[in-house]
Amino acid sequence: MLDDKVCIITGGSRGIGRAIAIEFSAQGAQVAVIYNGNPEKANQTVEECMKISGKKAKAYKCNVGNFNECSDVVKEIIKDFGTIDVLVNNAGITKDKLLLTMSDDDFNEVISVNLGGVFNMTKNCCRTFTKQRSGKIINISSIAALDGNAGQTNYSASKAGIIGFTKSTAKELASRNICCNAIAPGFIETDMTKELSANSELIDKIPLKRIGKAEEVASLAAYLCNNDYITGQVIRIDGGLTI
Ligand code: NAP
Repeated sequence: MLDDKVCIITGGSRGIGRAIAIEFSAQGAQVAVIYNGNPEKANQTVEECMKISGKKAKAYKCNVGNFNECSDVVKEIIKDFGTIDVLVNNAGITKDKLLLTMSDDDFNEVISVNLGGVFNMTKNCCRTFTKQRSGKIINISSIAALDGNAGQTNYSASKAGIIGFTKSTAKELASRNICCNAIAPGFIETDMTKELSANSELIDKIPLKRIGKAEEVASLAAYLCNNDYITGQVIRIDGGLTI
């Protein structure tokens, strides 16, 4: 259980991040929900979290790709909540194109938000974690990092970078009792994958014959927060796509 733990969830306004905020609240957590462009959705998540937990929850606007914004938002969250116990680096974007037509802006923006965002948030939270000698960091990667995906060189590279970052962070911070793991989802039903649920060819390739639910990823994230002996791991959640 996450009773009164202070949990930051980036990209908590929609999709997987929203489901994680709600699951953590159901386990008694206080949540700080970070969004970038959707204050209404972020506030809806926060209201639902408070209704479920009866605990404090608040939305914060921050572009995770910007180091200074991350530094400011982490300071503000510590002022509001007193500390940080869990950081979920979930915010992510896609700008899919075949390599031949991908611009350097498409490449750099995805790397900056998806991978830069993980560095920016983790770096700004880890002083608090090391001081209190505890903390959980969960990074949302993707099976695209492990298997590659045509049309996603930028996205796959950003998500593969997250795996290296996760393992190195786990090694660096283990002596301070801080665990850092990555989750690699397959196809999960959210705004990011709207058009996929009707793709019968894709669904046929998934042994469990369906797209995953954001709530299923959220329960894995909560499991990792509740365990003190798993660190540096990448856990796939993909309906068996690659067995
Ligand atoms: P989504 O529905 O598109 O939601 C993305 C979330 O990220 C939103 O809350 C969005 O905030 C936030 N965000 C985007 N850019 C941001 C920025 N620069 N700064 C701060 N927040 C930002 O995506 P999702 O499907 O839930 O995906 C969540 C994570 O899981 C992503 O990292 C994604 O790569 C990963 N993933 C998803 C799948 C899948 O099948 N869905 C599979 C593998 C991995 P606003 O609402 O304010 O825009």
